[in-house]
Amino acid sequence: MNTENAGFNTKLIHGGDIDDQFGSATVPIYQTSTFSFKSAEEGAKCFAGESDGYIYTRIGNPTINALEKQIAILENGYGAIAVSSGMAAATTIYLALLSSGDHIVSTDAIYGPSRGVMEKQFVRFGFQSTYINTTDVDAIEKAIRPNTKMLYIETPANPTMDITDLKACADIAHKHGIILVVDNTFCSPYLQNPLDFGADIVFHSMTKFINGHADIIAGIIITKEKALYTQLRTMMINLGCNMDPHQAYMVLRGLKTLSIRIDRAQENAMKVAEFLEKHPKVAWVKFPGLKSHPQYELGKQQMKGDGSMISFGLKTGFEGAKILMNNVHLALLAVSLGGIETLIQHPASMTHAKVSKEDKQKAGITDDLIRFAVGIEDAKDIIEDLKHGLEKI
Ligand SMILES: *Cc1c(COP(=O)(O)O)cnc(C)c1O
Repeated sequence: MNTENAGFNTKLIHGGDIDDQFGSATVPIYQTSTFSFKSAEEGAKCFAGESDGYIYTRIGNPTINALEKQIAILENGYGAIAVSSGMAAATTIYLALLSSGDHIVSTDAIYGPSRGVMEKQFVRFGFQSTYINTTDVDAIEKAIRPNTKMLYIETPANPTMDITDLKACADIAHKHGIILVVDNTFCSPYLQNPLDFGADIVFHSMTKFINGHADIIAGIIITKEKALYTQLRTMMINLGCNMDPHQAYMVLRGLKTLSIRIDRAQENAMKVAEFLEKHPKVAWVKFPGLKSHPQYELGKQQMKGDGSMISFGLKTGFEGAKILMNNVHLALLAVSLGGIETLIQHPASMTHAKVSKEDKQKAGITDDLIRFAVGIEDAKDIIEDLKHGLEKI
């Protein structure tokens, strides 16, 4: 079906159609490492790029390509490159587009390893990085140097839920001739489409909302233009961080219910955030749907929904947080997010443990911050669970 003018939900179900000789309703799993050529001449054509026939699964595979085609449609991009994980997406972007001596400007409250790999590993290759609060547009402009090649942001940021202005970032990036990369994991293509605001590259940890069932690790990169697509695909093929066909099939399966899962999760999240905001033991709550969120208006402009990630702090700080985490039963004490189940975790001692104390403080990743990923259970049960946990403090 041609889904060009169809709505998002129709694209979710029919956007990834592939030709299949038996009329299968779902994309078959082409669990093969290699593809035979019909003739020596055809093999030569495939390698010369004169035919788009498949060669070898690290380079391309019909199941993986069906997923890539569908996500590119959902993000309004030129093309997509599926990879083995969200971190494979981040590192492929860094390695494909940065050279020794190049500099990036990025969000200080960002997925921990996306920052850690730059500061602790890639610094050996001469990559330079500056982490700032990107909600401050002037600070971005000031951080740009003559050797800056990339503005790399995450919005809402992990775990502070700070919202960065996508359009303003695109304007700054293009004024300085640098590439804007957006980690769109917290929103998924259902809630935010950064390419529409002028970003050059978007990526997702599909481990989270896109697959949504907490049973797969996967990532994907989407570009607006062909040139970046080709550069990134070449790097992915050479790094060998390709997706596996079975993994692609699982993500395709999870993807179909993306919008109905997020609709339920964010409806629940709004109720949970309102409950927390009124609770006497809670010091603060940060959720894009609450009017108290510092970038509430900006969130309404660039996001199509509030998402289901909440951060909050207790008046009793980390001591209280530990008691709460040890006394919830419905919420799993686990990292990750975007799945069907509710998760609770403590970033300062878990996901962001490797960020230095000083950098955590600067980024607003305070010791009292609890990250709560709301699932699709009944809101009343999630709230009841929190209520019981909070009673123990
Ligand atoms: C989980 C996550 C990643 C990394 O993804 P993996 O699939 O775990 O490698 C990157 N960015 C954000 C915002 C994430 O939540």
